[in-house]
Parts: sequence; C-alpha cells; structure tokens
Amino acid sequence: MNNTYYHKLIFELSHKGRVGYSLPKNKYDKQYALSVPDGQARQKEAQLPEADELTVVRHYTNMSNNNFGVDTGFYPLGSCTMKYNPKLNEELSQLSGFNAHPSAPDFAVQGCLKLYDDTQRILSEVCGMKQFTLNPYAGAHGELTGLMVIRAYHEKRGDLARTKILVPDSAHGTNPASAAVCGLQVVQVKSLDNGTVDVEDLKTKLSPEVAGMMMTNPNTLGIFEQKIPEIAKLVHDCGGLMYYDGANLNPMLGVCRPGDMGFDVMHINLHKTFSTPHGGGGPGSGPVGVRSGLEELLPNPKVEVDASGAAHRAIGASALGAVTPVYGNFGVIIRALCYLLSLGRENIALAGKLSVLNANYIKERLKDYYKLPIDGLCKHEFVFDGLREEYGGDHHDASHVTTLDVAKRLLDYGFHAPTIYFPLLFHEALMIEPTETESKETIDAFIETMKTIAIEARDNREMVRTAPHSTPVKRLDDVKAVRSAQFTYDTLEK
Ligand SMILES: *Cc1c(COP(=O)(O)O)cnc(C)c1O
Repeated sequence: MNNTYYHKLIFELSHKGRVGYSLPKNKYDKQYALSVPDGQARQKEAQLPEADELTVVRHYTNMSNNNFGVDTGFYPLGSCTMKYNPKLNEELSQLSGFNAHPSAPDFAVQGCLKLYDDTQRILSEVCGMKQFTLNPYAGAHGELTGLMVIRAYHEKRGDLARTKILVPDSAHGTNPASAAVCGLQVVQVKSLDNGTVDVEDLKTKLSPEVAGMMMTNPNTLGIFEQKIPEIAKLVHDCGGLMYYDGANLNPMLGVCRPGDMGFDVMHINLHKTFSTPHGGGGPGSGPVGVRSGLEELLPNPKVEVDASGAAHRAIGASALGAVTPVYGNFGVIIRALCYLLSLGRENIALAGKLSVLNANYIKERLKDYYKLPIDGLCKHEFVFDGLREEYGGDHHDASHVTTLDVAKRLLDYGFHAPTIYFPLLFHEALMIEPTETESKETIDAFIETMKTIAIEARDNREMVRTAPHSTPVKRLDDVKAVRSAQFTYDTLEK
C-alpha cells in the first residue's frame, strides 16, 4: 500500500544467477563429502527464486506491511477479543531461563514448574474452580479435554448411557465439533427471540442419556444468560454436568465466576482474555478448570507443589492421558501470568467493566444507522443485523448494501472489519467487540467511520458495493480461492 511501485512495476523479483549469499569453497576432500543414496539425489537444479539480499529484505518487509494487526489498527473482531498485548509480556516470556527442555529433570526447572502452578492457582481463583490444567493448545482443544473429563466422570460411576450433550443453537461452531470428536451426540437447544437459552425447550431434551450441557456466557451474541442457576439445577437434577465455554470470559473478569454459577468444567482462552497475540492460527492455550471432586481426572502430566515448596511433575493414576506432549504452549502461559500479575487483584475487574462500557457506547451511538435486533444492555460485544432500511439495508431491494460491503468499505478507512455473518441467527450479522484497551479517540473515530459508511451506502451505493478501493488486493472470490486454490502465481491462468 505504502510502496506502490513495488506492487505495480516489479512483480517477478528473481533474476537468473543473482545471489544473496557467498559460501566458502568446500575445503574437504571428496572422501568426506556426504554421499546421497542412489535415486534420491536431485536430477535437475532446484527452481528457486534468485535474488539479492536487499530485494529479499524489501519483499518480506513490504509483505509484512500489508498485514493488519492489533499493533497497526483497531480490530473489533467479535468473539475474538483482539485486545492489546502489552510488550512487557513478550519481553518476559523470552527470558532465557524459560528456554528449558521439556524433559529436563524437576530440580533444573523449578521456576518453570512453579510458574505453571502459580498461573493455575490464579486462574482457579478468577474462575471459582478447584484446579486448572494448562496443557491444551487452544479453545477447541480445551473443549475436547473438558468433555473428556465429563465422559470419564460418568464412566467412572459406571453410567455408560450418557452419550448426549446439550448445546444451544447460538453456540460457537467449535462446541458441536468438539462434542462430535469426543464421541458425544449433539442435541441442539433453541434460543428465545432475545438470544438467550429457551428453558422450556431445554426441559423437553433432558433425559438419563444426557452427559451434560455446554453453555457460553456471555453467549455469542454478547448477552448475559440470566437463567443459569435454573438451567444448572435442571441439568444437575437429571445427572448431567455443566460445561462453561469461557472463551468470552473478558467481561466477567473479577466480577463473577463460573464456579459460583454452578458450572463443573470450563475452558478459557489465554490467547483472547489474557493478552497473547493471536490470529492467523496460533499459538494459543485453552486451559481447562474443574470444580472440586473432578481434579483427579485432569490430564497428565500435572504439576504438584509439596509442603516444602518444591515443584514436581506428577502423573495421576485416574487422570486422562496426555492431551499434549508436555505442558502445552508454555510461552503463552508466561504471558498470561505477566498479564494477571500486572493487573493484580485490584484492577482485574476494571478490564471487564471497561470492555462492557466500550461495547455499549458503540452500540448506542450506531443503532440509528444499523439494525439492532436485540436491544438492551450487552456485555463486551453485540450484533447488528446489517444497515437499517433507510441506509440501503433493505433486503427486498436487489441492490441493497450488505454486511460484506460495509466490512470491505471499513478496510478503506484503515479499520479491520468486525466479525461478519456470525452468529448464524441473523442474515446480516455484524459482530463488534472493541475490548477495553482502545482509547476513546479510536472508538469515536470508528463510530464516525461507521456512520460515514452508512451515509455513503444511502447516497453512493455503488462505491460501497465495490469496496475496497485502496487495498493491495480488491474483493477476492473466497469460494474460488478455496475450491480451486492456486499456490504459485506462475500456474495462474494468464
Ligand atoms: C474463540 C472461541 C472458541 C474457540 O477457541 P480456539 O482457540 O479458536 O479454538 C470457542 N468458543 C468461543 C465462544 C470462542 O469465542
């Protein structure tokens, strides 16, 4: 974007014979040379790009400048909690003492083992749980681990009939997917018009075959599920356990705790609420917490600290097997502990409350321009259902401006798009999560831009429908990109 000549004039950067390195001549005799087994040696030269070092440096630097991240701009991607990740956490996670071998003996890695235990304890306190394992690699991996705990709990009691799991229709797609991977049958529970779980529908689905229920709170619409005590009682009375999808824990921090609401098993996403850079696939961490009585089932290896204060690797006899080779993504765990300690007990509740204030502020300032299907107080995020009719959002008009158009136009103004077309409950879903780390100026600029786009959609529809206009690539055909992927440009149709 910033270097147009680079994109327009120079595309093929390779020049035959141009190199960016020099190696000393092999000074050893032929006899020492590595011999490649017959049939495995390359028959012709590798077809690699040939370029000088400076050209390579510019190529990668310019590519990285085309990347959008929390460090470059506002990133209101609903359900993802793209908050700022303090640089202090990065620096501390790279201290050389943490660069330990996963199979090092306990005495050599006391600091690492204690850090694991400290993090586990603080998370247990924040969530009202007895114990956490930090081993799972991501939210979905945590869900699978937590559901395995639920299955093991029923199996240990000899109750083998519990093969069904209740999941609200508003759930994140990973919930039914994890349940299926765990061998459980998913039973969908309906939502009411206000987006929360329909308790009457739930009652018709309870049976001795129910292993448990998965709930997200606030749910994927950003709404606090007010009937949790009633729901938990219904599920417990029928013999099931309550699972809390805590990927959206951010607004709850220090304000209320899943353990106090009646949940038995939960996961959280360190790479959302606890400030680890994410997006583009990792690295993540999805710790799983359980209430008292279930901790024996958490997966191996575990960390135990004895009365003398020494930490040990422990292998529990009734535990699930390992879900990761060792202690998960350790660098992410270090960042989470840094974040927790820098907020401290005094400030942790501020993070969640500010994220709620920011979301409600944006919602109230924009609801005259965008359709708000569920009015009222939201938590850390909320959902619009596209533009209002008077701003070009009328579905009956074939040339109406869609949520996709709005998302693409936002890119022209330097904002990352919100989450679009999720959750599936609305046709034109546009899900906005500002997080607590943005300044009022940034949030106001976003609001003004969203208003500007609404007015453009009313007065200059084609311009919005053909956006983006200022990005290095324009509107891509997502479906074609998936169905007929082309991995190198020289195989593209000319
Ligand atoms: C992000 C998210 C997940 C999945 O987490 P991953 O780390 O991407 O696997 C699950 N549930 C909810 C509600 C989420 O927002």
